[in-house]
Amino acid sequence: MPDSRVAQEPSLEARSPYELRVDLGKGVPESDVRTALATGDMGFLHSFTTGSAVDGPGVRVVAWTAGCQWRCLYCHNPDTWAMSNGIPVTVARAAEQLGKYRHGLKAMNGGLTISGGEPLMQHRFVVKVLRAAHDMGIHTALDSNGYYGHRLQEEDLDTISLVLLDLKAWDPERHRRLTGMENGPTLEFARRLADRRLPVWVRFVLVPGLTDDEADVGHIARFAAGLGNVERVDVLPFHQMGRYKWERLSQPYALADTQPPTPPAVAAAIDIFRAAGLNTFSS
Ligand code: SF4
Repeated sequence: MPDSRVAQEPSLEARSPYELRVDLGKGVPESDVRTALATGDMGFLHSFTTGSAVDGPGVRVVAWTAGCQWRCLYCHNPDTWAMSNGIPVTVARAAEQLGKYRHGLKAMNGGLTISGGEPLMQHRFVVKVLRAAHDMGIHTALDSNGYYGHRLQEEDLDTISLVLLDLKAWDPERHRRLTGMENGPTLEFARRLADRRLPVWVRFVLVPGLTDDEADVGHIARFAAGLGNVERVDVLPFHQMGRYKWERLSQPYALADTQPPTPPAVAAAIDIFRAAGLNTFSS
């Protein structure tokens, strides 16, 4: 007979990151949240998805963390902004979950990607999960906006095989309008990763009228090319798959009427990155 208590537990596995998840950690006392953040023994995950082919090399398990301090106008996962929307998960449970996939991930040249939200909002938890994966011989990728990169110690970086670094805009004012935050710390983190020769894949979201300014894209391209550790750039065309989340969360969505970029616009952005000498793709 099924245990009803188990049946009521939210599943860690989601069919896709576009699954709306709210209030899953709401019952966790504030003091427990503070302890979790301080020790890193527990974190808050939106979900795990398996079989991703777009979040790093090979086939990957992706752990989507809850919590983000940015407010990107084009965010397709606004339900990951609040940590209380995530499922409380111990490091042991996350490692157990990973253990199930370790052999398959290796066979498919894949690994674990930690994305979000912004993973470094819970950097101690994230580092422990990365370390657990690293110790199992699993390739690890961190998908981050880089703002809290300074929270990672040098030995933490040793557990990361690849950083998927989101570069959103070059001009500081444009970046602030787009995300609500400064881009200085992200660029600083990028330089630090370059100093360590830690492989980076740059992710750039192309939004008509917001991030498609040729000169701005050119600055990002030349910066990325100058780092010397950027293995590839992914130009990600803006889409509306997350729009329903903004509506369901009653958040004002400034891009409700924005269309995805046209194929020529995507090709033009790719050309700018390629002209800087970067291996560039688009999904
Ligand atoms: S950094 Fe990522 S999760 Fe945070 S608001 Fe921007 S797109 Fe959304």
